[in-house]
Amino acid sequence: MKKGEPLVQVKIDMLSPEPDEVVVKIAGCGVCHTDLGYYYDGVRTKHDLPLTLGHEISGHVVDAGANALSWIGRAVIVPAVIPCGHCDVCRRGKATICPNQKMPGNDIHGGFATHIIVPAHGLCDVDERRLLSVGIDLADLSVIADAVTTPYQAVVQAGVSEGDLVVVNGVGGVGGYAAQVATAFGGTVVAVDVNDEKLKTIAGKGAALTLNARGMTPRDLKGAIARFAQERSLRQTEWIIFECSGTRIGQETAFSLLNSGGTLCVVGFTMDKVEIRLSNLMAYHARAIGNWGCPPELYPKALELVLSGRVKVTPFVEKHPLSEINQVFEAAHVGELRRRAVLVPTH
Ligand SMILES: [Zn+2]
Ligand SMILES: [Zn+2]
Repeated sequence: MKKGEPLVQVKIDMLSPEPDEVVVKIAGCGVCHTDLGYYYDGVRTKHDLPLTLGHEISGHVVDAGANALSWIGRAVIVPAVIPCGHCDVCRRGKATICPNQKMPGNDIHGGFATHIIVPAHGLCDVDERRLLSVGIDLADLSVIADAVTTPYQAVVQAGVSEGDLVVVNGVGGVGGYAAQVATAFGGTVVAVDVNDEKLKTIAGKGAALTLNARGMTPRDLKGAIARFAQERSLRQTEWIIFECSGTRIGQETAFSLLNSGGTLCVVGFTMDKVEIRLSNLMAYHARAIGNWGCPPELYPKALELVLSGRVKVTPFVEKHPLSEINQVFEAAHVGELRRRAVLVPTH
């Protein structure tokens, strides 16, 4: 990516991997809202431009440094945020805030490419025989690198369990997985969106109730959810709300749904500012928490949800050749895509 210019294919000479690094031949790389933020909205990448974007990567390890040779030949998912694993915060189990973390397509060259060099630390091993038996493509698993694991981490952090009423606001690329993961953890999920097609896709695949927020005031919405809670004998307190739309209006709506003891999880990202009454947190004894990526040790558990069929990825993914990146970005930017795009390079 260069500022304000179409994305172009360039040949980069690959350096050899360092002792703790591997070379991954990319099977697929998902297009995330964050990539669009870098490309269209001027969100700055930490690495100077030009830079290869893309941080949702799956593929095969084809080369490795001296300390990582055991990875050669294995199918892997590359975590979207790769912590260093040995600094003070990593040692205290807070890998997502590691100051030495590497995010492909932000700190280092990313996955809209044929190959990538990444640290071996944190790679998630994929059992290809099992993958074959469940009929999922390795390229489709790329979405686990971020779209599945980020809400997975949010669900773990919020402590979703049996009997919880969970609201997922925005059931696109990330929210669709948030709904499924929360359901897998025992939550009863209400999906809220302004797009009927997205709501239809998630109905029965994670959402117990779908609500189109278009034309509804926040008060209407809260009322509708409260009635549903009553019908299902669920609590009228402690709702857990996942804001996945990454829009100003979506964030305002999500905040307005907080009730006593409620939890707001900010999963989506926007540069826009919102106007909210922060004191509601105090008055409701509620909390708002964010999360950046997901620690690598949770990846195998998220992968297991997919391989066991409890979280479906294929109905939410569409594959395109990497050469169509400009058209796919544009379509994603104007909101034409109903599924998450995964770009597949030609080798
Ligand atoms: Zn992302
Ligand atoms: Zn660290």
